[in-house]
Amino acid sequence: MTPLLDALGRPLGSLRLSVTDRCNMRCGYCMPEAEYTWLPRASLLTFEELARVAGVFAGLGANRVRLTGGEPLLRHDLPALVALLARDARIADLALTTNGILLGRHAEALRAAGLRRVTVSLDTLRAERSLAFARNPRHAEVLGGIDAAADAGFSDIKLNAVVIRGFNDDEILPLLDYARARGAEMRYIEYMDVGGATRWSEGAVVSRREILGVIEACHGPVTPLPEPGSRAPAERFRLGDGTTFGIIASVTAPFCRTCDRSRVTADGTWFRCLYGEDGVDLREPLRRGATDEELSDLVASVWGARRDRGAEERAALGARAVLYPVEGLRADPRREMHTRGG
Ligand code: SAM
Ligand code: SF4
Ligand code: SF4
Repeated sequence: MTPLLDALGRPLGSLRLSVTDRCNMRCGYCMPEAEYTWLPRASLLTFEELARVAGVFAGLGANRVRLTGGEPLLRHDLPALVALLARDARIADLALTTNGILLGRHAEALRAAGLRRVTVSLDTLRAERSLAFARNPRHAEVLGGIDAAADAGFSDIKLNAVVIRGFNDDEILPLLDYARARGAEMRYIEYMDVGGATRWSEGAVVSRREILGVIEACHGPVTPLPEPGSRAPAERFRLGDGTTFGIIASVTAPFCRTCDRSRVTADGTWFRCLYGEDGVDLREPLRRGATDEELSDLVASVWGARRDRGAEERAALGARAVLYPVEGLRADPRREMHTRGG
């Protein structure tokens, strides 16, 4: 298949499909506010509609699909959606990103339904920090969820930590040990100034360079793992003992040049960039009865004009403030990271 390229020559290669904007955590870098404006329930795509959207994207080359949210496991009967997607031969890679609270309950059903890969967000190993930072009193369930995923047969488990100065920057090494002991791979993420990160400040960002410095000071020099042709955002490294880990340096080393991602919110709004303002409404044509071919033509023509490079443009600003103040987020909840799916 000839790849569908955007205006900067980037193929359409992956889709993050958000199944809900609701969440059972309130991470300080994503949902720090006391109240939120939610997408109207009637606007949420059904499983059949989500599967159709994923199929249209996969037909155009986005054969890697990741389910996300909000917290995707809050969506009732998520394994049924996984089963629908797993049946679509055009989708080569089906993954889930979760905060882990409900993973223990659903890991086996997800695996049985055909899910292949799981990423769990784990910013801290300390229950009291999770409670204070993410208003999460269920930290033990997160840890139990990671073990349950391994027990259910998921072999490619990744653990994501957003590293924030003064919150968890002293847990870079303990998190690495924790992941290694479970055969999982640690991913450190630079704190991004995305919509929703209303407490963001430049000083709180722990850079890729600092993270590597901490790891190398303890474990010695790390070896970068070249992944020719890879469009994955994480740079991967190997320690002397073979342990691998990744860093997603969206702030200090943005990777927009190779970005092949699309994001569809739970109400069927399609964004071509995490920072993008202009979403395309796919729900309206879907519910009006558009054929797959018509939807496909719409996606192809919009992708062909794509020029988004949000993180690079933010980095070029030099000094920057938060992306949107709270009122801007209330006016349009689709600007929120927890609606776009991260
Ligand atoms: N609730 C699920 C979870 O937390 O894994 C899925 C949705 S969450 C929005 C997806 C990812 O976005 C998580 O790994 C989270 O750490 C990341 N994220 C959210 N806000 C972020 C920020 N300001 N900077 C960097 N990553 C962020
Ligand atoms: Fe945290 Fe994910 Fe919920 Fe955001 S959507 S508050 S990152 S658990
Ligand atoms: Fe892709 Fe936008 Fe993120 Fe750049 S900022 S990597 S274009 S989603």
